[in-house]
Amino acid sequence: MKDAAKVVAITGASSGIGEATARRLAADGHHVFLGARRTDRLDALTRVITAAGGSAAYRRLDVTVAADMESFVTAARERFGRVDVMVNNAGVMPLSPLHALRVDEWDRTIDVNVRGVLYGIAAALPVMRAQGGGHFVNIASVGAYEVSPTAAVYCASKFAVRALSEGLRQESRGGDIRVTLVSPGVTESELADGIGDPDAREAMKAYRAVALPASAIAAAIAHAVSQPPEVDVNEITVRPSASAR
Ligand code: NDP
Repeated sequence: MKDAAKVVAITGASSGIGEATARRLAADGHHVFLGARRTDRLDALTRVITAAGGSAAYRRLDVTVAADMESFVTAARERFGRVDVMVNNAGVMPLSPLHALRVDEWDRTIDVNVRGVLYGIAAALPVMRAQGGGHFVNIASVGAYEVSPTAAVYCASKFAVRALSEGLRQESRGGDIRVTLVSPGVTESELADGIGDPDAREAMKAYRAVALPASAIAAAIAHAVSQPPEVDVNEITVRPSASAR
């Protein structure tokens, strides 16, 4: 084990970056508590991690339901005694041009990507403050820094995650709460599978041709989590070296 064992709650742990983060942090010796809606995936991942000697448990979680998030964090604390790190990772990306008026998808993007992160903060912050410290790792995107066609709502949601993370960081000085914003470029996952708009879906094929493995983002998260208490890694952006975006 490289680091002192921490209790790490991870939202959206059933695929992609969340799954890779669970595998990596468990391999580093941490206790991982996994949340998502697809519990069959969480169950399988928990079995793989524990079979390899790691420490993992899971609970079904819909991040758009505040009470669900509260129960998720409570369950993590009951299972492992505390919550040291909250990885607000769950996200959706149903891209489309604004004129397509896919309003339901706008709502879902805001509900998962923004409200989900806020609910994660609401559930974990009191626990961390009561136990004398904690660490939020919020997953944004390169879309938290720049906007492109079909991605206005998604980028707005990720700009919001960046603003929330910075606000939380500023309010937490002296309070032993660390905040890390991790912004991936294109990364292998199931994220683009949720694009319903046919034009946006087609455009994404070229855009996503060069992609990082999800383990690269997990490694960035592991770096931030492994820092000593006096070191607060605030922002990490990770892009494929072969891509300008
Ligand atoms: P995936 O689609 O593979 O994973 C998304 C995860 O979010 C799944 O585990 C899914 O679980 C979960 N999720 C979605 N909706 C909900 C919900 N309502 N409640 C709980 N969990 C939910 O994509 P990624 O791994 O790529 O996405 C992870 C994060 O990385 C997202 O925030 C995304 O925006 C960000 N990102 C990804 C990039 C990429 O290129 N892959 C680039 C930049 C940022 P389930 O469906 O089982 O609930």
